[in-house]
Amino acid sequence: MKNQIELLAPAGDMDALVSAVSAGANAVYLGVEDFNARKRAKNFTQESVKEAISLCHAHSVKVYVTLNTALFDKELERALDTAIALWNIGVDGFIIADLGLASLIKEKYKQIEIHASTQCTVHNLDGANFLADKLGFSRVVLARELDRDNIKYISQNARAETEMFVHGAHCMSVSGQCLLSYAMGGRSGNRGECAQPCRLPYQIGNKSGYPLSLKDMSLAGHITEIYNSGVASLKIEGRMKGNDYVGGTVGIWRELLDSGKNASRREFETLGALFSRQGFTDGYYMSRIDKAMLGVRTDENKAQSTNVKLKENTLQKPSINMKASLIIGKKASLTLSLGEREVTVLGDIIEEAKTAPMSREDISTSLSKLGNTPFALGSLDVEMSQGIMIRKSSLNGLRRDGIEKLLNQNPAVEKVDFEVKEIKKPSKIKTALFSREEQIPKNKDYFDIVFLYLDRVRRGTLANGICMPPVIFDSQWDEIEKMLRDAKEIGIEYALITNIGQIERVKKYGFKLVFDYRLNAFNGPCVGLLCEQGCENVILAPELILAQTRDYSGFGLIVYGKIPVMTTHKCVIKDTAGCANCKTYIRDRQGTKMYAEGIYGHLNIIYNSVPIYMADKPDSISCYSQHFIFTDEENEECERIIDAYKKNKAPVGAFRRIK
Ligand SMILES: [Zn+2]
Repeated sequence: MKNQIELLAPAGDMDALVSAVSAGANAVYLGVEDFNARKRAKNFTQESVKEAISLCHAHSVKVYVTLNTALFDKELERALDTAIALWNIGVDGFIIADLGLASLIKEKYKQIEIHASTQCTVHNLDGANFLADKLGFSRVVLARELDRDNIKYISQNARAETEMFVHGAHCMSVSGQCLLSYAMGGRSGNRGECAQPCRLPYQIGNKSGYPLSLKDMSLAGHITEIYNSGVASLKIEGRMKGNDYVGGTVGIWRELLDSGKNASRREFETLGALFSRQGFTDGYYMSRIDKAMLGVRTDENKAQSTNVKLKENTLQKPSINMKASLIIGKKASLTLSLGEREVTVLGDIIEEAKTAPMSREDISTSLSKLGNTPFALGSLDVEMSQGIMIRKSSLNGLRRDGIEKLLNQNPAVEKVDFEVKEIKKPSKIKTALFSREEQIPKNKDYFDIVFLYLDRVRRGTLANGICMPPVIFDSQWDEIEKMLRDAKEIGIEYALITNIGQIERVKKYGFKLVFDYRLNAFNGPCVGLLCEQGCENVILAPELILAQTRDYSGFGLIVYGKIPVMTTHKCVIKDTAGCANCKTYIRDRQGTKMYAEGIYGHLNIIYNSVPIYMADKPDSISCYSQHFIFTDEENEECERIIDAYKKNKAPVGAFRRIK
C-alpha cells in the first residue's frame, strides 16, 4: 500500500541529506547559513545547497529551506534576498516563522511557496486559516501539543495543507512562546540560538529532577490512524542529529508507511536505540498528559546508540531517457524524461553541413556526457537529417540546459526594490495585566486598560480588559466563547490577543483588541500586519533592545514585570508540588526562583525570576505605550510599583533593564 503522505526528514549536513534520500524520504528540510533555528547545526552554504537540490530533485525529493527565526528590521532585506536567490536555484519552499517576512513575500513574490513554521504557534483552525488567507502560506506546521482529534479537525478543514511532527525532540514550552534560554543567558530560541536550559535539573517544592525535560515523541504506533487524518506531511525532527539517526529513523518510517503498519516492539527498539530520552512519548497525541512524558538522555540510552546495526543504504544515480531531434530547418530539440517528469529544451536552427557533417556517433557522445550530473543515462534516441552541421558546444549547451530544467522547475522571480510600508502610530496608552483580581489596586486609574485572564473575570471586576489564554484548541471554543459572551455582558471592553488564532472570534464579540508581545512583533512589516487587523496597540517583542524600537514610538513596550519564559500545555506543577491551586516556584541550580501558575485549567505559565524595571528611566520609555505585568506580587507591592513609576523611583531588589 503506497500513499501520498510526505515523509519529511531533517538534513543538518550533506551526509545526513544523502542518508535521508537513500532511506526513502519524500522531502528534506535544511538550513542555509543564517536565519535558521538551528544555528549550531553545520547547515549548508549557498553553494552546497545547489548540490543538495540537484541530488534531491534527481531522486524526486523536495527541498525545503528553513528561514524560521524572528527577524530584526535590518535583517529583512537580506532574508528576502536569500529566499529569492534560493528559490531561483530550485528550492521547493521555505519554512518561515516571521510574519513580517511572510507578508513581504506575499506582497511581491507570491510565486514563492511558504510554509508556516511550528514557531507560528498554531493550535486551531482559525490560526491555520489566518496564515493561509492573510499571508499566503500553502502549508502550516501544527503545534506539537495538539491531540489526534484536533489535528484531524484542522487538517480536514484548513485552507492550507498541514504538516505535523511525528518523531523527535519535544519542547516543553509551546513553540514560539519560549524565552527561557533568552532570559537565562541571552540566547534566544526565537532567533535560533536555544541553549536548551529545559534539559537541566530543577527543583519544585522539595522535589528535584527534570520537570522541564520531555521525552522525544514518536507516533510510529499510530501510523494507520495518521494516514487517514488528512495531514499532508509527516516531519521527523533532528537537524542536530547525525546521519545514522536520520538514515535509520527515516528507513523505519518509510517501511511502516509503505506497508501501512504501526510500529511493533522490534521497530520501537531500533528507533529507541538510534536516539531516545528514556523511551518515547505519544502523550500529547493521545491526550495522556502525565509525568510519563518526562525523560532525559541517560548513559544507558547513549550506550544503546553505539550498538545499532543499520541497513546499508546506497544511493544510485537515477536514469534519464533522452530524445534529440536534429532536423534541417528546425530548431535543435532535446527532451529529457525522469519517471513522469519530462522537459524539452530548444537550441539553434539546424543547418546543412557545408564541409564535414556531424556523425550520429559524435552527437551521441556529446549528449550522453552525464559525468558531473546526478543522473545516469537510460536510453538515447536521436532523430536526425542526413549531413547536418551542429557545433559540439551547442550540443553540450542543449544537454546542460535540459538537465538544469529537469532539476529546477521554479518560475524565476525577479527582485524588486525593497520597501516597507509606513505604519500609522497608535496613541500612547498604559496597560497592565494582573494575575489575580485582588492584586488590582485602588490607584489602577494609572492604566487605561487593566487586563485579567479571561477565566478570572467576574461581575464587579475592576478590570476592563480580558487576556486570552495563549493556547486554545478547537475543542475548547464552545467554553471560551461562553466566557467571551459573559465578559462582554459584564462590561469588559478590551481583549489582549495572545495568538493569531483568536483574532476573528474575539472581534466578533465586539472587543477592542490589543496584540500581546506573544505575537512576536519583531519588525515593521509584522507590526504593520497586526495593525491592519484592527487594534488599539501592539506590544513589541521583549527581545528587542531600545535601539531597535526607536521607529515604533506609540507602540507597546513591557516596562515592568516578570515576562513569561515558558508556556506549557503539560502542567509542570501537578506531578511535583501538586496543583491544589496550581501555583508554585521552580528553582534552578543556582537557587533562582521562577514563579509558575496555571491559567485556564492547567495551562502553565512560568515567569522569569526577576522583573523588568524602568521606573527610574522615564526618558528611555516615555515615547512608548507602556505595559506592566503583575504576577506573584503581593497586593501592596502592586500599589508600591505603580507609585514608583509615577515618581520615577529607584528599584528595590533584583531587576533587569530593557537594554
Ligand atoms: Zn496544574
